[in-house]
Amino acid sequence: MHEFELIQHYFSSQSSAASSALPFGFVGIGDDAALLPISDAVSLAVSTDSLLEGTHFFADMPPRALGHKALAVNISDLAAMGATPKYFTLALHLPRVNESWLSEFQQGLFACAKDYAMTLIGGDTCRSQQGIGINITVMGEVNRQHSLLRNRAQQGDAIYVSGHLGESALGLLGLQKKIPLDQAWLTTHYYPQPQIALGQALLGVAHAAIDISDGLLADLGHILKASGVGAYINHQQIPLARSSQNCPESLALQCALTGGEDYQLCFTVPAAQQAAIEKISARFALTKIGEIVAGNALTFDPPLPNTLDSQTGFRHF
Ligand code: ADP
Ligand code: MG
Repeated sequence: MHEFELIQHYFSSQSSAASSALPFGFVGIGDDAALLPISDAVSLAVSTDSLLEGTHFFADMPPRALGHKALAVNISDLAAMGATPKYFTLALHLPRVNESWLSEFQQGLFACAKDYAMTLIGGDTCRSQQGIGINITVMGEVNRQHSLLRNRAQQGDAIYVSGHLGESALGLLGLQKKIPLDQAWLTTHYYPQPQIALGQALLGVAHAAIDISDGLLADLGHILKASGVGAYINHQQIPLARSSQNCPESLALQCALTGGEDYQLCFTVPAAQQAAIEKISARFALTKIGEIVAGNALTFDPPLPNTLDSQTGFRHF
């Protein structure tokens, strides 16, 4: 049973005993954040993500980077909903008190909070027997009039991604000494920049959106499944990592397709919004990589080089 089957089987299928009482516009399990209507105009967007030593980061990750990244990966889910970040909670699981570590960690955390105008409103602190664990829950606001959901892609939509893909995975390979380490990749791996301003600009323009946390193919796959559509991708259009001339081209493409943690956005845009998306493209690095089609298959046109594995994206189980 893999991660998403587990969530579906044990949790999402029975998430609410009172689904008839849920407000119009409520979005529960299955998107990047839940949307809870709190007034006629506004929904609260809520999402949670954990970073665990040994699973998400090595014990020697600089604590300042860890503080940044723990919050940034959460903010990225708000970006995918077009939400404005507001508040967060912090649950810290620490094997011991290390004051210099804590000082650096909190500097990274609060620098990121400041960049995205977020306020820490609570949390939990406990001793862990097995390494450091950080869980953050973020809350943001989004206008109820427009939403950016995974299940709104339609046949004929163009598929776009922001930024460059694969840098974080290449940074990780560099840290593991499997390839020469490039500073730009390491910066993306340690200090991902959630695309809040882009998410907001896409409200009312894009049909569907997701943040790329598990790899382009896995995350676009979530849009396709939720929307009941297929897609084709031109892999030659995918914006590869900067400095990708420093590694084999097939590795750069593999990392762009299946390496996670870039925290860029993937979204779909109807033809009627062509002029709007061109305007937005003047402010953000956006690349059109394919199109939504009927069916449920993800295909490549031209075909992928057969040395590449298009099946894997990151899953915990
Ligand atoms: P993301 O990568 O955007 O953080 P995930 O892939 O982790 O999202 O999760 C997919 C969906 O399943 C999300 O809507 C998330 O809130 C939900 N989810 C994950 N784990 C659980 C759980 N244990 N119980 C309920 N919902 C869950
Ligand atoms: Mg997400």
